[in-house]
Amino acid sequence: MTVDLSALLRGEVRSINIDAEISPDSAPEGVTILPGSRLKGVIEDSGGYIRLTSEASVPYRGQCARCLDTVNGTLKFEFNRTLVTEGTVAEDVLEENAEEYLVIHKGFIDPDSTICESVFLEFPMVLLCRESCRGLCPKCGKKLPASGECGCAPAETDPRWNKLKEIFSKD
Ligand SMILES: [Zn+2]
Ligand SMILES: [Zn+2]
Repeated sequence: MTVDLSALLRGEVRSINIDAEISPDSAPEGVTILPGSRLKGVIEDSGGYIRLTSEASVPYRGQCARCLDTVNGTLKFEFNRTLVTEGTVAEDVLEENAEEYLVIHKGFIDPDSTICESVFLEFPMVLLCRESCRGLCPKCGKKLPASGECGCAPAETDPRWNKLKEIFSKD
């Protein structure tokens, strides 16, 4: 995705609305980015200070870390940057503030690779089918229901736990 800023840079318009398809080309391990990623927002010029305020939405498919079920979701995150013309901000400053600046090359911005980096940063560390997922039964390997047991014989408990249970049941 590229955005032509020439009209804004010439002062003919004060803002440019963005609603465009983006294509993050890589994803965290085990995650597939599905088609239909978008960036929606606005680029506004206030007295030479050009700011991009937007939200990215990235549909994905992954796997629950506990039960291994397929998880479909949409990652949404804010993508806000100050746009600076090439050469006006020193390279080392740009590198140190990668989450602050986006460089305008010859009147255009091309934020796809930067958005792709954000996908990695914003993606949940542990993907779950639901917060309360109990994972798999350690005995039979089936997915545990939301409550109760899976139906196979209850797992044998460590005798030390039985001792603890006795202690607590006395209260
Ligand atoms: Zn799960
Ligand atoms: Zn079981």
